[in-house]
Amino acid sequence: MTIHHLARPRIQDRAVAHSLRGLCAGDVQLPGDPGYDAARQAWNLAVDQRPAAVARPADARQTAQVVRAAAAAGLRVAPQTTGHNAGPLGRLDDVVIVRTGAMNSVQVDPDRQGIRVGGGTLWLTAVTAAAAHGRAVLHGSAPDVGIAGYSLGGGLGWYARALGLQTNNVTAVEVVTADGALVRADAEQNTELFWALRGGSGNFGIVTALEFRTFPFATTVAGMLVWDAAMAEPVLRRWVQWAGDAPDEVTTSLRVMSLPPLPEIPAPFRGRSLLIIDGAVLASDARSAEILAPLRDLQPEVDTFARVPVETLSGLHMDPDSPMPSVSDTAILDAMPEAAIETFLDLARPGSGSSLMMHELRQLGGALARPHPGAGAMPTMPGAFLAFGGALAATPEMAAAGRRDAQAFAAALAPFGSGRTYLNFQENQTETAAGFDPVNYGRLVALKSALDPQGVLLGNHPVRRTYEVEDEFF
Ligand SMILES: Cc1cc2nc3c(=O)[nH]c(=O)nc-3n(C[C@H](O)[C@H](O)[C@H](O)COP(=O)(O)OP(=O)(O)OC[C@H]3O[C@@H](n4cnc5c(N)ncnc54)[C@H](O)[C@@H]3O)c2cc1C
Repeated sequence: MTIHHLARPRIQDRAVAHSLRGLCAGDVQLPGDPGYDAARQAWNLAVDQRPAAVARPADARQTAQVVRAAAAAGLRVAPQTTGHNAGPLGRLDDVVIVRTGAMNSVQVDPDRQGIRVGGGTLWLTAVTAAAAHGRAVLHGSAPDVGIAGYSLGGGLGWYARALGLQTNNVTAVEVVTADGALVRADAEQNTELFWALRGGSGNFGIVTALEFRTFPFATTVAGMLVWDAAMAEPVLRRWVQWAGDAPDEVTTSLRVMSLPPLPEIPAPFRGRSLLIIDGAVLASDARSAEILAPLRDLQPEVDTFARVPVETLSGLHMDPDSPMPSVSDTAILDAMPEAAIETFLDLARPGSGSSLMMHELRQLGGALARPHPGAGAMPTMPGAFLAFGGALAATPEMAAAGRRDAQAFAAALAPFGSGRTYLNFQENQTETAAGFDPVNYGRLVALKSALDPQGVLLGNHPVRRTYEVEDEFF
């Protein structure tokens, strides 16, 4: 592995960025403009991104204009919908952030098998539209994550062990490519680009529209089981054993959460450390009860599992639905032997001294482990568990402690995996190759060189031959 520390020139001459404004019909905010600070703000408030410009195109035509103008000015472009995963981008002195939020639309196909959304649409919009037609979509745990970023980076949701990754249920993508062309990629046309986009994220184009499958169910069994974190050891041991044998219909997460004493948190949970298992079961009520019985036997304090409309799953994980400052780290585990269980408990149990608000394990396997027919660059998601440690970073001190503890958590669990990572969950700079099997990553690198030889498009996890560390924000 070669590591280059890039020293990109700062753009001293603002004329370059100013030329964008002349060349683009859409909204362009430059440093010094009154609207620049609001425009550059990422969803993750701990990320202080300072790009050469922020462009907010209204449509695909304006998006193409921005890409052509930026490339002509020697600038790169970074597609961004919300900035949930802005952390890894690094210094942006020569980068135009293209915020796609104005391309916010949703249309369910007349036959209801598919849905088409604009490139800046957030998940809640599509979940609600599909549900109105009695259908479900493969969204994740947060209602305000961008569909394009989530879908192009994998997309691990509540139905993942039954139906796989969202990226492999995308049926067409319309993108502006590095040369400023607007193209459609699907199973019939631009098939290599279609393959690369499904996993290769924002490295291959700026999504202006996306089409994907919907599924024929309007309700599911879903909910949460809650214990005091003092029960972490018996519940974790039972869950790990249960997860290994669980049928594909069920997908769950287990978390130890340390909740702050804030008034917006329900009184019974305020200021407490809890062990929460939440998830969904795509099965009849009777079969769901049978599947969940070994967990319920441990007598949770709260049990909300019940048949619910699919749209309620957007709020199931209680993820924040408005911007917040956070730091995190992640690792994929192939198994949780005794040593991994001990490691997790040592770091997550109350009194461990960890500054993390959340120590989480998501259950993998099932359909995630089986190559999806016609899949893109992420045909499967490897591993048995996905670990994620996150901290609130409201002050620089909290950010420093949270980053240290999140890295320690991921590093302690990583030896139980094979070094692969899930890039959508990786909010720090990392070796992008770790997100793919080596053959697929080689194909992505070759395609990037062919389709974007000047490296105009900058994804949050850049596809490139060597690992390059840019200056980080923090
Ligand atoms: C609270 C929270 C909950 C989450 N829950 C889940 C979950 O349940 N499952 C899961 O799989 N992931 C989850 N994630 C991770 C999430 O999928 C990634 O952060 C994803 O990248 C967010 O996409 P975004 O567009 O909202 O973010 P952004 O930071 O705007 O985009 C991230 C990257 O996606 C690409 N991108 C975004 N928009 C476009 C576009 N229009 N065209 C081309 N490329 C684009 C770019 O490479 C960009 O850098 C969660 C993240 C958070 C913070």
